[in-house]
Amino acid sequence: MKFIKPKDINNLYETLDNMEQQYLLAGGTDINVQIKNGTIRDPNIIYISHLKELSGIKEENDLILIGATTSLKDIIESRIIKKHIPLIHKSLQNFASPLIQSSATIGGNIANGSPTADVIPILLALDAKLMLCSKTTTREVFLKDFFIGYKKNVMKNNELITKILISKNVEYKYQTFYEKVGSRNSLAIAKVAVAGIKKVSKEKITDIKLAVGSLTEYPRRLFKVEKYVTGKTLLEIDFNKVDEYLQQEITPISDLRSDKEYRYHVCVNLIRTFLNE
Ligand SMILES: Cc1cc2nc3c(=O)[nH]c(=O)nc-3n(C[C@H](O)[C@H](O)[C@H](O)COP(=O)(O)OP(=O)(O)OC[C@H]3O[C@@H](n4cnc5c(N)ncnc54)[C@H](O)[C@@H]3O)c2cc1C
Repeated sequence: MKFIKPKDINNLYETLDNMEQQYLLAGGTDINVQIKNGTIRDPNIIYISHLKELSGIKEENDLILIGATTSLKDIIESRIIKKHIPLIHKSLQNFASPLIQSSATIGGNIANGSPTADVIPILLALDAKLMLCSKTTTREVFLKDFFIGYKKNVMKNNELITKILISKNVEYKYQTFYEKVGSRNSLAIAKVAVAGIKKVSKEKITDIKLAVGSLTEYPRRLFKVEKYVTGKTLLEIDFNKVDEYLQQEITPISDLRSDKEYRYHVCVNLIRTFLNE
């Protein structure tokens, strides 16, 4: 096992370009567990949390930019986030424990790609983008296009997530929703999570984004349900149809935390609650 601490961001890109089988270490709250339990063996570890270019929260025109190594604690406590994206502030209160929140980073939560990652459904509902950078490339990818399978994503071996980009106008125009169902209120990994934003005009839903976590092999948007309910009032929505589109869109998972039938039921109820609000 090699441990590398790049001296600056260029040195990081250089290292990523010249190495195979490397793992980034940000807060370490996922990767250290994977090394300890043997899922990852003899890794080359590149530490990134000391690089100031990768951390911090700022406003830029209509966007909020969150550096990938910003900790969950800093995000929850951020004045900018509280003001412009209170959905994130409220929804992450039950993320792990204060101790884990101080180390865990937003980029690590996304890159690790766990089906149960709390951050991902919220950012999917907000239609966030990721900035992916390497030594020679910079590209923006919508989070909805980032995952391609269980813990698989479109990032190349020499790339990393540097920033998360979120529109700051959403909260002024939309109703927002996030519900995480776990065994307890705190220190619980989600059994089901539903996040959403919706705009209603003259009782009709004119725009909606819905996302689920802990239900499928990776958190995802519910495009078919979104399309079905758009343009309808609550009375015009046939919940049997919502159910039909949901079944077309997701295949719930069973694991030690919960079975697929329970997950599916809770998910349907949460979507109904949000649509009724
Ligand atoms: C006790 C405990 C409780 C937890 N509770 C929760 C919870 O309630 N909700 C929840 O969602 N998660 C929870 N987690 C999981 C974990 O804390 C989060 O997923 C965390 O956000 C991961 O961030 P990190 O910085 O620690 O990632 P790391 O462990 O440092 O890295 C995780 C993975 O992401 C990669 N990576 C890191 N940063 C980047 C980057 N910028 N670009 C590309 N790849 C990158 C690493 O190579 C690694 O593969 C818990 C973990 C523990 C140990």
